[in-house]
Amino acid sequence: MGPGRLFALTLAGFLGGHLAILGAFAAIRVRVTREAPRVRVDAAGLRYFAEFVIAEAFMLTAALQLGVLRLSGFSAPRTALTLGVGFLWWEAWFYFGHRLLHTRWLYPLHRPHHTTRGLHPSLSFSAGETVVLSSGFYIPLALASRLYGGVSVETLALVFSGAYALNVLSHLDVAAFEGTAVGPLLGSARRHARHHAGRRGNYGLNSAWLDRACGTEAAG
Ligand SMILES: [Zn+2]
Ligand SMILES: [Zn+2]
Repeated sequence: MGPGRLFALTLAGFLGGHLAILGAFAAIRVRVTREAPRVRVDAAGLRYFAEFVIAEAFMLTAALQLGVLRLSGFSAPRTALTLGVGFLWWEAWFYFGHRLLHTRWLYPLHRPHHTTRGLHPSLSFSAGETVVLSSGFYIPLALASRLYGGVSVETLALVFSGAYALNVLSHLDVAAFEGTAVGPLLGSARRHARHHAGRRGNYGLNSAWLDRACGTEAAG
């Protein structure tokens, strides 16, 4: 397949995946909180949405085209291994990448995410921030695809949609869900909300173990 067609396909995949996940979370919010979804979409949000999905599609196209990733047929056990190992790797990559994004040199890439209020995460990631963070996916994926044929098209769909769904979960508006059935799932959103409120620390996204190990936990 030519690179143009591959890029169009991956872009369609990221666009469809992001919109489906945002739609699912908006539907859950309406059901659980009885509030209308408050998604404010402005020109800056649309620009960052385009930067985010184009950067993701560009990296995946390059990884497939250059042979960094070799696709195999789907296997549930091999995909489960890739997802499990990939999750641990991703937690560490995100933690250290996020700390780097808070250095003076890289903060301009991360600033849109911190200054955009009330928007879903896909509407505030610059292309540069996306490259710093999402490039981390390709190290375990490349190894899994070469060592044990652990990457199929389905694996890629699960990795990227799973990572994005967890990202949206970490950015849920905690106050709206407090006291609802979703409340127990909000640990990462509570921790990350303290990071967004300007507290130094809580660089991890889905878990707090690296913040605890490195002394950067900002507790309630
Ligand atoms: Zn940050
Ligand atoms: Zn955030």
